[in-house]
Amino acid sequence: MNDQAERPVYMDHAATTFIKPEVIAAMAPYFSQYFGNPSSLYRFAGEPRKGVDAAREQVAAALGATPAEVFFCAGGSEADNWAIKGVALANHKRGDHIVTTAIEHHAVLHTCEWLEKHGFSVTYLPVDTFGRVDPGDVEEAITGRTVLISVMTANNEIGTIQPVARIGRIAHDHDVLFHTDAVQAIGAVPIDVESMNIDLLSLSGHKFYGPKGTGALYVRRGTRLENLVHGGGQERGRRAGTENVPGIVGMGKAIELATADIEGHNRRLAAMRDRLIREVLSTIPDSRLNGHPTERLANNANFSFRYVEGESILLMLDARGICASTGSACSSASLEPSHVLLATGLAHEEAHGSLRLTLGDANTEDDVGYVLEVLPEVIGRLRQISPLTPPAGKRVPEAE
Ligand SMILES: *Cc1c(COP(=O)(O)O)cnc(C)c1O
Repeated sequence: MNDQAERPVYMDHAATTFIKPEVIAAMAPYFSQYFGNPSSLYRFAGEPRKGVDAAREQVAAALGATPAEVFFCAGGSEADNWAIKGVALANHKRGDHIVTTAIEHHAVLHTCEWLEKHGFSVTYLPVDTFGRVDPGDVEEAITGRTVLISVMTANNEIGTIQPVARIGRIAHDHDVLFHTDAVQAIGAVPIDVESMNIDLLSLSGHKFYGPKGTGALYVRRGTRLENLVHGGGQERGRRAGTENVPGIVGMGKAIELATADIEGHNRRLAAMRDRLIREVLSTIPDSRLNGHPTERLANNANFSFRYVEGESILLMLDARGICASTGSACSSASLEPSHVLLATGLAHEEAHGSLRLTLGDANTEDDVGYVLEVLPEVIGRLRQISPLTPPAGKRVPEAE
């Protein structure tokens, strides 16, 4: 089966997804006949305004929120910045302490580090070997000065799903606001902001088959939050800038499609994921699965292979038409080992030899079969030339 050179196997859906044809179709009229500025008063503003309103309802419906609690912005990074800086600034008189975890996306971690330079203090909670945060640790970290707890719903590198409903309960019991970065969770983990006690939630269109540069922040009514982008009165005075109307319409359609049948979607992807995990671990020696065995995203398989470098794996897979990732996209560019894998207790060598395969809606069992044919060859070849590989028979047993 080698039509693969023609059709590359894309298994990097945690980095970004393709845009579904229905989404492109929904967006198209807003580039042409409905190009008007939704803030204007003349007739050209009517359809764009209706498109934005409908998208706000679609996003709200996916979260169990009301449309008035949904604010559009330019993506997951902006939503994370807005939630964390916005809560910190608006609640500074009450407190100056934030609780988060060591495995958050850099949009959260770097925002918290920035706040530390400006007088806030931040607790970065550890995780267990599977990447799970202990809700008991969250509770212990809360002080009289804590204004915000920020814990992601699901991790972008290892796919581990956090006990967010329990953490939200704890936050509310202590009268602390709870933010979750749900960028990887939309369409994979059912979200209900009420029962999960979520006050602020970040999402990003291009992670669920919508357009890039689109995102939203859910803000529970009554939450004290400073605005970050100042200017015109768009988004009910909370976020300035003429709306990205086609993007917003596309994201609305995309979230509706992504949350229509989460269970069916997960069942299909988990079957392929589990085949990948089972066969990689049984055919490739000195391999391990990173992340949680069961509490993980249905599309995520993350492995470590001893004695090899993740970057070399990626290049050799790319030469065979397979697109994957090592650690996060940002860490692979800097050659730093992933902060997430290190936080789960992996040694630097093991964190370096990691491979993330993230499945998506267009992947087939044939794609999985092709990866399972190529990957053992690639790892075998790299180990032959790796100075790190010990001679046969001298391999150290896997540390627990
Ligand atoms: C991709 C991602 C982001 C950033 O979203 P952008 O829309 O690309 O800015 C934030 N958090 C997580 C968990 C992500 O996976």
